[in-house]
Amino acid sequence: MTRPAPLQTAPTPVHTPLHVIDLIRKKRDGLALSPTEIAFLVSGAAASSIPGVAGPIPLEQLAAFLMAAFLRGLSLDETRALTLAMRDSGEKFSPARLGKVAVDKHSTGGVGDKTSFLVAPIAAACGLAVPMISGRALGHTGGTLDKLESIPGFRTALTLKEFETVLAHCGASIVSQTPALVPADRVLYALRDRTGTVENASLICASILSKKLAAGLNALVLDVKTGSGAFLRKRQDAEYLAALMVATAEAAGTRTVALLTDMDQPLGAAAGNFIELVESVQLLRNQRPPESEDLRQLSLILAGWMIHLGGKSATPEQGRQLAESALEDGSALAIFFKMIEAQGGDTSIFENPTAFHQPGATQVLEAWKTGHISAMDTTKIGWAVQRTGAGRESAGAPVDPHAGILFHARRGARVKKGQPLATLYATTPALLPEPIALLRQAITIASNPPAAVPLVSRIFTRETAETYLENAVR
Ligand code: URA
Repeated sequence: MTRPAPLQTAPTPVHTPLHVIDLIRKKRDGLALSPTEIAFLVSGAAASSIPGVAGPIPLEQLAAFLMAAFLRGLSLDETRALTLAMRDSGEKFSPARLGKVAVDKHSTGGVGDKTSFLVAPIAAACGLAVPMISGRALGHTGGTLDKLESIPGFRTALTLKEFETVLAHCGASIVSQTPALVPADRVLYALRDRTGTVENASLICASILSKKLAAGLNALVLDVKTGSGAFLRKRQDAEYLAALMVATAEAAGTRTVALLTDMDQPLGAAAGNFIELVESVQLLRNQRPPESEDLRQLSLILAGWMIHLGGKSATPEQGRQLAESALEDGSALAIFFKMIEAQGGDTSIFENPTAFHQPGATQVLEAWKTGHISAMDTTKIGWAVQRTGAGRESAGAPVDPHAGILFHARRGARVKKGQPLATLYATTPALLPEPIALLRQAITIASNPPAAVPLVSRIFTRETAETYLENAVR
């Protein structure tokens, strides 16, 4: 992954009016762009997505700028300017009228990562507002919106007015990005995907944070995944991105921390769509299946930080205790169901989830030998989940709400030959062989157990992020 460039010499003046070609050449030659120049490029990108708006920049010029930024890097100042210009490129949500501190959590994406369904109602139950603008399944990782849309009637495409109404009524709302929110990212992200310019820390930071900061957050908890299922596979890249996002969001006035968390196995037992909601509701009902304990623990830690940064507890540990009380007394469950109903969803399916869950085909994968599960290649597992029909092959394709994989054994477990490892739910029987083959490649059964991996391996606050960035090898 490429990183921000070291501090550079003062920018050479560019004569007004600004010309895109001058800015591309300047970045190509490794010079720093000013906030005004970056804002000019970003407003040109946003205008490209809105027919009839003046000043669109042709896609080939935006692509050239992205490649120059990717190869030369952006400084910390440029990264901040890009993030803010993108945040301001369209409509924004203001939580001010809610009269509560607005907090959110963002994860860099994983397999079976359903913490949003727990932390959003928990934080709301503790008196905070959680305006959560979420995404869809991407590559091997699942999408919060796709999971929620497995509930009959549930609407994720709310207007900002409807979003505010649900937040005022429930304290939490989970929605999709409106077409007018951060239009610059819509254009730039699609271009990055097509031009090999995704894996750059500054571009990722600006893309993620612009969308989060456009929701007017007072505080943000970032869950940056590490391990075999993480979007960034190298640990140093994950650390760098975490520190960069914390420093950038803090500079924009949002209290932010980042936790580096384990994605060396799916989080919890379920990976898919409806089955992830069933697991989340079990925990909200204060049940504690052992295979969901990592999900429960991580959700409480993340919610604890949200509660702390939102000013409702003196420490994150006290926040964690408040979070646990909200799980145990049922207040988080009540808010989750209220939110589902406020967004048009039918909560009666959770009365008898097995009756609702009707996959097209089911198969149990048994352990092929006795031993310990010593490794789970979680990216491969994510692809296996996608191939059941739970994810999408191409943007806009439908996903199967009933598809996914339920794991019966976790990393480190001792298993006997013939013992069920996982149950696969696919759209059709023809879809089963590929994910079965992928799971057999992804799961290693060996004679010795693996070394334990901590759930949270590092935490960046503003201070530690700034120190890290100062010392980072560029
Ligand atoms: N997710 C985003 O929203 N943007 C990126 O650049 C990468 C992941």
